[in-house]
Amino acid sequence: MITTRPTIPATRFVERLTAARRLAETAGVDAILVGVGADLRHLAGYPAMPLERLTMLVIPAGGAWSLVVPRLEATPARLCPPAASGDLPVVTWEEGDDAHALVAGLVRDAAGAIAGRGIQVAVSDDLPARHLLPLQQQLMGARFSVASAVLRELRMVKDPDEIALLTLAAHAADRVVAQIARGRLVGRTEADVADEVRERLIAEGHDEALFAIVGSGPNSASPHHEASDRVICAGEPIVLDIGGTLAGYGSDITRTLWVTGGDAAKGPDERFRHLFGVLHGAQAAARAAVRPGIACEAVDAAARRPIAAEGYGDAFFHRTGHGIGLEGHEEPYIIGGNTEALREGMAFSVEPGIYLVGEYGARIEDIVVCGPDGPIELNEAPRELYVVDG
Ligand code: ZN
Ligand code: ZN
Ligand code: ZN
Repeated sequence: MITTRPTIPATRFVERLTAARRLAETAGVDAILVGVGADLRHLAGYPAMPLERLTMLVIPAGGAWSLVVPRLEATPARLCPPAASGDLPVVTWEEGDDAHALVAGLVRDAAGAIAGRGIQVAVSDDLPARHLLPLQQQLMGARFSVASAVLRELRMVKDPDEIALLTLAAHAADRVVAQIARGRLVGRTEADVADEVRERLIAEGHDEALFAIVGSGPNSASPHHEASDRVICAGEPIVLDIGGTLAGYGSDITRTLWVTGGDAAKGPDERFRHLFGVLHGAQAAARAAVRPGIACEAVDAAARRPIAAEGYGDAFFHRTGHGIGLEGHEEPYIIGGNTEALREGMAFSVEPGIYLVGEYGARIEDIVVCGPDGPIELNEAPRELYVVDG
């Protein structure tokens, strides 16, 4: 089933650009320079190809923003919503021009400076050295910093359009979990099941299937296991952790299955049932802890406490979660030591696991948005152990 997806209107991008400019001003930054990547998609809705030629969104604190692109990319650039609506001027450069000098000129003009001296520039975190170094040459004496210091506020707190897309992605992944849990699984390789997952993610509306972890038997105790040629046997668990992107926004869900092959004697053993019950309670506790004002580390602790209380503390050896949006892993990180307070609109995973290395393990992962007075759970797939008889 392909669902029609909401598109993000130009007005929303103008809101984001305006907010970015205001944040730059507050931070004392003269200009934010955004290269190709998630920040560019977020601020301009432009999914540019990462070419060696410079594409750059220039957001001066005190002036008009513009999108600098090589002329041969002008057509796709002008199709991004704020450019199409006339709210984001596209400035083109010709083959052979010095695009870095062009950008430096825009920055200097906006800052009212002749050289780079005294100018503060924030550049997107993943800007390649082949662009950053020439920009530093052109703006000699300017102070450069990473744009995430300014833009993280905007990226972490999702607006309603972003939450709508994250929800669509989550529901599409939910459907794939249900389809896979129908079987058949016994007798197939993990890699074969992973291929099926990828196909189904696309069939359910994802643009890209990014990962399909199928960890069976002892592999279920390895959190980032790559699907292998191991053949799935009756009487063992499978950790299924899948996701992709839909209209740029990520899905990421984990469910734990137990395959019996139809043999009632090959159901989950007592120890696994206990382990899974502890995990299930811990994951629910962490979700329930989500509300504005609570520290990320407190959500992590809410998951960790019940697991440790049952003696599995050492078997839960990764953070409880990560933010999700235009990138699969982004801020905020739900981890001990992160005192950042949750705010309404933050979206992240809650994914504790218990892993008995060499034996078996389990994980449950959901995407949760911090709502006005509690969690908004985007995934709807049941969180119980899926006992699969095929
Ligand atoms: Zn991961
Ligand atoms: Zn995951
Ligand atoms: Zn995850």
